[in-house]
Amino acid sequence: MVKLIGDLIKDVIEPGFCLGCNACVAACPMQCIKKEENEIPVLKTGCINCGICYGQCPQVVDPKTLQKAIFGDNPTDELLGTYTQALAVEAKDAIMKAHGQDGGAVTALLSSLLDDGYIDGAVVVGTGEAPWQPVARVATTTGELIECAGSKYTRTPLFIGLRDAVNLYYRKRVAIVGTPCNIVASWRMQFSEPTNRHLGETIRLRVGLFCGGVFRYKEFLKDIIERQLRAPLAEVAKFDMKDGRFVIYLRHKPKRELALSAVKRYIDLPCKICSDFTAEFADISVGSAGSPHGRSTVLIRTPTGAEAFDVAKKFRKFSAVELEKVKPGIEGVRLEAKAKKGAAAKELEIMRRQKKPLPVWLQERPPEPPKETIESLKSISRV
Ligand SMILES: Cc1cc2nc3c(=O)[nH]c(=O)nc-3n(C[C@H](O)[C@H](O)[C@H](O)COP(=O)(O)OP(=O)(O)OC[C@H]3O[C@@H](n4cnc5c(N)ncnc54)[C@H](O)[C@@H]3O)c2cc1C
Repeated sequence: MVKLIGDLIKDVIEPGFCLGCNACVAACPMQCIKKEENEIPVLKTGCINCGICYGQCPQVVDPKTLQKAIFGDNPTDELLGTYTQALAVEAKDAIMKAHGQDGGAVTALLSSLLDDGYIDGAVVVGTGEAPWQPVARVATTTGELIECAGSKYTRTPLFIGLRDAVNLYYRKRVAIVGTPCNIVASWRMQFSEPTNRHLGETIRLRVGLFCGGVFRYKEFLKDIIERQLRAPLAEVAKFDMKDGRFVIYLRHKPKRELALSAVKRYIDLPCKICSDFTAEFADISVGSAGSPHGRSTVLIRTPTGAEAFDVAKKFRKFSAVELEKVKPGIEGVRLEAKAKKGAAAKELEIMRRQKKPLPVWLQERPPEPPKETIESLKSISRV
C-alpha cells in the first residue's frame, strides 16, 4: 500500500526522525511541501496524495536493504561496508587545499570530472546570507566548487540543490556530495515506488562523506557557539570534528575546542541512531579518519566510483597513495566506524527501554523491493 504525506508526518516528522535533507520537498511534483525552520518540511495546500514524498525518505527503510541492490552481495567489511580500494588523497592545487576540509580531495575529484564532462554539475553545500548557514548549491565550475569546499556540520537541505540542478540548470549528469543519510535518500529517489525518477536518474556519481553526525544551526551554532561561547559565526574560519573534538578555528583569535562528548547532546536525534559512519552506499566515500593531516581518506566502492576516479586521475589535480602506506590507516577508520555503530545500538536500546517511538523500519520490516526494480537499478548505476 502506498504511504502518503500523512504517514510521513506520523512516521518521520512528528517523532523527530527527519534529517532535513529535503528529498521529499525536492521530489514533490505539486511543490506543496516547503521547508521551514530547521529545514523541517511542512505540508502546504495542493497535495494530491501521490505518496512520492514518502518514497524519497531515507528514514523509513533499513539502509542495509540497499546492500544487495547496490553491491549484489554482503559487505566486504562489516564495519566499513563494501570497498575495493582505500587511498589517502591530497589536492595538488594550493587554493583547493587551503579551502578543502582535509586534503581537498572531493573538490579536486569533482573539478576533474567537470573538466572531463563526466559530470555536468555537482550538488554541493555552500553558505547562505547568514554565516555558516548551509545552502545546497549547483557547482558547474571549479571556482564554484572551491567556494563551497569545507564541511558544514549542520542540517543541510541538500536535495533542493538536486532539484535546482535539474529544473533550473538543466543538468543531465550530476555528482552529489552528501552525508550517509543523503546517499540513502539519493538511492530511494532512484528506485523506490512511487518516485520522482527524473531527479534520481540525473545522479551520475554519489560522493559520500564520513559522518559523525550533524548539529542544528540555531540550537548549536547560534545559541551555543555564538552566544554562550562568544565566538561570532562571522569570525569562524573553519569547523572541524575529529578525534573526539569539535574544533572552532577563528580568524583573529586562537582556536576553541570542545570535547565531542560535551556537545553530543546537541547532535541531531536521527544521527544518534545512525550506524553508518563511512557512507557505505556511496560510489566513493571520503573522510578525514585514517589519513594524516592534510589528506583525505578515499574509499572506492562501486564500479561507477572506480570509473569516475580513473577518469579524474588523468587530470593530475590530486595525488593518491594507498591508505596502508599512511598512519593511522584503515584501522583508524574502522575504530570510528565501530564507535558510531556501538553508540547507535546503545541509543536505540535506551529508546526501546523508555518506550520512545522507533524508526518505522525497526517496528516492521518493509518488503524487499521487486526484482525488476533491482535490475533497473543495477543497469542505471552500472554496478
Ligand atoms: C556533517 C559532517 C560530519 C562529518 N564527520 C566526520 C567525522 O566524524 N570523521 C571524519 O573522518 N570525517 C567527517 N566528515 C568528513 C570531513 O569533514 C570532510 O568532508 C571529508 O574528509 C572531505 O574532505 P575534503 O577536504 O576532501 O573535501 P572538500 O574538498 O573540502 O569538499 C567537501 C565537500 O563536501 C560538501 N559539503 C560540506 N558540508 C556538507 C554537508 N553538510 N552535506 C553535504 N555536503 C557537504 C562541500 O560543499 C564540498 O563539496 C564529516 C563531514 C560532514 C559534512
